[in-house]
Amino acid sequence: VTGKVLNFSPEPTNLPPAVEAEVQRRAFPQPHELRLGSMAQSHRSPEFGAVLENALRVTREVMRVPPEYEILFAQGGGHGQFAAVPMNLCSHPGEEATYVVNGTWSKRAVEEASKYCTPTVISALNDDGSCTTLPSVDRIDAEINPRSKFLYVCSNETVNGLELHDLPRLASRVPLVVDASSDFTSKPIAWRRANVGILFACASKNIGHPGVTAVIIRRDLLNRANPMTPGILNYTTNLSAGNVWNTIPTFNVDVVGVMMEWLRDAGGMAAAEAVSTAKAKLIYDLIDNSNGFFGTPVDRSSPYRSRMNVPFCVDDGNEELTNLFLVEAWERGIVGLKTVTPFKSGKYLRASLYHGVSYDEARVLAGYMSEFMAKHA
Ligand code: PMP
Repeated sequence: VTGKVLNFSPEPTNLPPAVEAEVQRRAFPQPHELRLGSMAQSHRSPEFGAVLENALRVTREVMRVPPEYEILFAQGGGHGQFAAVPMNLCSHPGEEATYVVNGTWSKRAVEEASKYCTPTVISALNDDGSCTTLPSVDRIDAEINPRSKFLYVCSNETVNGLELHDLPRLASRVPLVVDASSDFTSKPIAWRRANVGILFACASKNIGHPGVTAVIIRRDLLNRANPMTPGILNYTTNLSAGNVWNTIPTFNVDVVGVMMEWLRDAGGMAAAEAVSTAKAKLIYDLIDNSNGFFGTPVDRSSPYRSRMNVPFCVDDGNEELTNLFLVEAWERGIVGLKTVTPFKSGKYLRASLYHGVSYDEARVLAGYMSEFMAKHA
C-alpha cells in the first residue's frame, strides 16, 4: 500500500503529480489573485491567446515539429479524426487510401473512413479478430494501393499492445497518417524520414484530459477537403481561424501546455523513451520469467511489444485467479487493470504505463504480481 491510488487505466489517466499541481494553480486562481484561470477565460481573450500560444510553442519544441507542419487542437477525440482524416485528404468518397489494420483502433478507423473514401486494407488480424503483429514494411510496400491519397497506421494499438517503436520509411512516398493517440510524447518522431503527412493524438492518455486532440498536419495537405466536411473537422477552416473557429476547450489546452513543459524539463523525448522502455521492461520481464503463470499475447521476440500498454493474463485466463488478482490489487490501491471496452479483449488484463505512472509505481505493480505468483503459481 502506497497511500495513493495507482491508476493503470488505458484512459483517462492521471498526470504526473507536479503537472496536476501546476494545472490546479493555473486553472483555478486563489481569490486574492484577481485573475481568471483557463477554466474561465474567453477563448478569444488575450489571456487565453497566451495559453494557446504557449501550448503550441512547447509542443513544437518538445516534439521537434518541423516548420512545414501546422499544429491544431481539435475536438471530437480519436473518433473525430477517424472521420476528419479521409474528409480532409480525399475530396470525394471515390478517392482512395490504404489502411494498415493491426488491432482494435485501426479497424475502427477504417470502418469510419469507408464512409468518406475507398480504402484498401492491409490487415494483420487473425481469423478470430485477435492481432499479435504488424504487417512488415516489405508487405506494406508491396500491397499499398499506389492511387492512395494517404497510408494510415496506428503507431500504438492500445488494446492489442502492439507498438511501432519507429515509424517506417516506406519506398512509396504516399503521405503517412499516424494515429499516435496512445504513444504520443513517449518517443521521438521521424517527421520527414517517415514522410508523416498527419499525426494525431487524443489527449487523454499521455498529454492531458479528454476533450482535446493534437493534430499535426503538413501544410501541403491543406485545402483539399471534401466540400461536405463539417467546419469543426476541417483542418484548413480551423487553422485559418487561429484555432478559435469555435469555442475550443480552453482548460484542456492549458493542461497540454503544462504537460509539454513537464516533458521538456524532464529531458524531452530521449528521456521519455528511456523511462517508458524501463517501465515496460519491469512488467514484461516479470511475465517472461513467470514460467507461464502470467502470459502476454505479443511474443518476447517481437519488435512490436508496446511500451505503453502491456496486456497480460493470469494463469491463462483462469477466472477465479484473475478475479482474486484484481481484488487483491484493488486492496493495495492498484486499479485500472481491467477495462470494459466495446471490443472483446478476451482473457487479458492490461497495464497501461503512461506518463502519469512513474517508474516506482510500475515497480509496485511488478512487485505485487511477483508476490501473487509466489502464492498461487
Ligand atoms: N486511437 C487509439 C490508439 C486509442 O487508444 C483510442 C481510444 N481512446 C482512440 C483512437 C479513440 O479515441 P477517442 O475515445 O478519443 O475517440
